[in-house]
Amino acid sequence: MKKKEMLHWLDEKDPDQLDGLFKKARACAIEHVGTKVYFRGLIELSNVCSKNCYYCGIRGGNPNLARYSMTPEEILTCARQAFEMNYGSVVLQAGERRGEDYAVFIEEVVRGMKALSDGRLGITLSLGEQTSETYERWFKAGAHRYLLRIETSHPELYQKIHPGNHSFGERLDCLRALKRIGYQTGTGVMIGLPGQTREDLVNDIFFFEREDIDMIGMGPYIPHADAPLARQSDLLMPEAGVSMENPPSGLSGFRYDAEDQLRLGLVMTALTRLHLKNVNMVAATALQAIDDEGRERGILAGANIIMPNITPVKYRAKYQLYAGKPYLDEDACQCSHGLDRRIRATGAEPGYNEWGDSPHFRFGKNDLRSA
Ligand code: SAH
Ligand code: SF4
Repeated sequence: MKKKEMLHWLDEKDPDQLDGLFKKARACAIEHVGTKVYFRGLIELSNVCSKNCYYCGIRGGNPNLARYSMTPEEILTCARQAFEMNYGSVVLQAGERRGEDYAVFIEEVVRGMKALSDGRLGITLSLGEQTSETYERWFKAGAHRYLLRIETSHPELYQKIHPGNHSFGERLDCLRALKRIGYQTGTGVMIGLPGQTREDLVNDIFFFEREDIDMIGMGPYIPHADAPLARQSDLLMPEAGVSMENPPSGLSGFRYDAEDQLRLGLVMTALTRLHLKNVNMVAATALQAIDDEGRERGILAGANIIMPNITPVKYRAKYQLYAGKPYLDEDACQCSHGLDRRIRATGAEPGYNEWGDSPHFRFGKNDLRSA
């Protein structure tokens, strides 16, 4: 698909036209990655973060948040639970921390997860920017996938939504290091950032292609009351304390309302599927925060991965990246039963006990044999 056509789709609002696009994207997913939807049980192991991204509720500079870090035993208990629920993989996610002690901590947890499952549990990490050496150590310990969203592929917009000491170039270098080391590499963007244009979004898809990305995780940007970027958004969420008392400044361009956010999230999912074909793509939980059936709609628009939250319920309220994050009080088992039903309702089949690796990683981008 040419850039012009993609831009057209991001403007399209006619439900019948959009339905046609989503059906094509779902058919493309079935052809290139199969009918199954694979699970990645998400363990949010700590909300301690040394960074200060302007959009994020758990950024280090947010004083209104008690910090927690799960112990290795707690993490392994969660992983065992995921394994027993027949999830083929888990994702370890957290705020960003660096240093030798932390590297060793994660290394040991990864080894522990491999040991408890006889090597059968797939392990994805989403632990931010690290040195190549750390990435290598975690890879050797048994992690085989890594998620590091570029957030936006537009370097100037990236700079506007981060403090001056966060660097687009360094984040890109990290992504490239992950690929070089041999991880299945995932990235993604937030959709509907203040100041982000439709052209920026199309360029994000070309960025995924250029960087030869295996897995995509992207979803709507949702303001958080304790994050500075919320004051620059038109998304009014009074229940979350987000208001327009401080009108936008410094960022110009399009701003989106919740309905636009959902539509753009789904259209981006469909366009990315149709353009990249054999990548793995997650149906973002942030879609669910906007629409109760957001994730199912993500699957019907071309996504093939679901990340059920299996973090202990007592920590969930402390890991609010954005306002209204769903499943604050539903434990892993409740989540799992609901999900099975929700996935089957889309006509897809849950892929239990399977890694469900990205065919793009296994076969490369030019080999489009079906899954
Ligand atoms: N610290 C790691 C992983 C945790 S954050 C990292 O930053 O890579 C995981 C993702 O949450 C981020 O990449 C970002 O895209 C998303 N996120 C943070 N705040 C958000 C918000 N307000 N709305 C939507 N997504 C958000
Ligand atoms: Fe920290 Fe990740 Fe949030 Fe940035 S997006 S503040 S690195 S948790």
